[in-house]
Amino acid sequence: MTVGVWILGDQLWENQAALNRIDDKSSLPIILIECWQHVQQRRYHQQKLVLIWSAMRHFAKELRGGGWQVTYTKSEDFEAPLKAWIQVHNITEVRVMAPNDRPFLQIVHNLRLPCKTTLIPNNQFLWTETEFKDWASSRKRLLMEDFYRASRQRFQVLMDSSNKPIGGKWNFDKENRQPPKGKLDTPKPLWFEPDTITQEVIAQVKSLSFPTYGKIEPFRWAVTREQAMQVLDNFIAQCLPAFGPYQDAMVTGEETMWHSLLSPYLNIGLLHPLEVIQAAETAYLEKNLNLNGVEGFIRQILGWREYIRGMYFYVDADYFEKNWFNHTQPLPEFFWDASKTDMNCLRQVLTQVEGSAYAHHIQRLMILSNFGLIAGISPQELEKWFHSAFVDAYDWVMQTNVLGMGLFADGGVLASKPYAASANYINKMSDYCGGCKFDRTVRSGENACPFNFFYWDFLARHRDKLQSIGRMSFILLNLDKMPPAELATIRQKAAEWHLGSQ
Ligand code: FAD
Ligand code: SF4
Repeated sequence: MTVGVWILGDQLWENQAALNRIDDKSSLPIILIECWQHVQQRRYHQQKLVLIWSAMRHFAKELRGGGWQVTYTKSEDFEAPLKAWIQVHNITEVRVMAPNDRPFLQIVHNLRLPCKTTLIPNNQFLWTETEFKDWASSRKRLLMEDFYRASRQRFQVLMDSSNKPIGGKWNFDKENRQPPKGKLDTPKPLWFEPDTITQEVIAQVKSLSFPTYGKIEPFRWAVTREQAMQVLDNFIAQCLPAFGPYQDAMVTGEETMWHSLLSPYLNIGLLHPLEVIQAAETAYLEKNLNLNGVEGFIRQILGWREYIRGMYFYVDADYFEKNWFNHTQPLPEFFWDASKTDMNCLRQVLTQVEGSAYAHHIQRLMILSNFGLIAGISPQELEKWFHSAFVDAYDWVMQTNVLGMGLFADGGVLASKPYAASANYINKMSDYCGGCKFDRTVRSGENACPFNFFYWDFLARHRDKLQSIGRMSFILLNLDKMPPAELATIRQKAAEWHLGSQ
């Protein structure tokens, strides 16, 4: 029997489950495939393509250097190179670590290979699908906060000797989430110059004949585990000490603030979540950092990331079709070209995404998806755009984040209320409104901010549905106090905007 291992582009880790039990490296054939058809499914950001292909090529090189027998192929599809490789090495069993995404799992199932295919349980997350399902099925409510506490206990992170949370509380968010004040002294993110391999990939992506999105240069992402570890070290030293307070703040020209920029690397296996969590916890203990920032950061990974992925496999397979509000407006053209909007908040964030394929959490949630929610854009169209545009986007992280958290398209499986906000919130948490042609204080008159008229139109449009959500009752009282004539003007403005008169 000859076993061969197929490594997928988001499984670039030598300890991954399909590799980590192999003793004799030199006798195990390994294959990695750059597949052209696969990347034509969407208008991917060019930097996402460069990141994946460059990281795959670097990983193949590292594996060869470590004594593994590696085949690296570029091909139209997956099946042809797999069949050729199986034949050359007389392979009788292809092992592949279970894909993180349902669509890719289907691709593996649909392959017609002349030998057995075995899926090895994925070890890139802390909770397996089964463990998450066991946790979820024993509960009446599926709150992230409950899951996070269970995670802290299970992995003994930030716990004291009597199994109580360090600092006496599970969550220190009251001390985080401050609006930006004055001139902030933000840390510098760690970026990298493209090496020869990355430059070759950049040239290849530039020559692609199908549509892509965004600017390819400057390309500054890490493409190896060693570089990803440096990004982690830089984050722990420079950003973690002040991570908490301005976690939700948005400032023009400050693209990364104190955020870690680790998601692209975690999501392709260059880093493992446990090592990131342990690095943060060790820094807290050794350097006496503020608990609010460290706990807030650890919650993102041990709580949110694991929960989002667990829920992806827990919800029904038709989750991607959910559309609780029946929103059907098409995605505005400016999502593909930031210069086509005068809304400064959207223009700033979309210009940033075009340039780096990155925006931080609140930019994604409270600018991009908030607009999609209140303007009634089709959740499926917006989800497709997010999946194309971001360097760290994959099916498992898109669906529950965009459809569930961002757009409430699942009717509240994930979020306890829609994340809908008017210009008030954006003005409080950013400096965007100061440089905008729209007036953040106006909701129905001349120059009214679209976030205002869409916000009130959204509340009025879905009053009946929103009434069933307890946390919305205070806001709906404000809606009811609005003079009917003003509400009619607001709704008229929203309708006109969609007709192209913005
Ligand atoms: P930091 O702010 O430094 O946070 C640390 C880490 O926590 C991140 O690297 C990430 O791994 C993890 N994390 C925090 N929140 C989440 C979450 N809700 N889901 C998953 N991981 C989380 N994350 C992606 O990895 N890929 C995406 O395509 C993606 N799309 C999103 C779309 C929307 C509408 C929303 C609301 C969130 C999305 N997120 C996504 C989650 C989160 O915004 C990003 O993980 C984060 O902004 C990445 O930047 P960072 O590494 O600097 O994060
Ligand atoms: Fe965005 Fe409105 Fe503020 Fe302009 S005024 S930046 S459109 S919230």
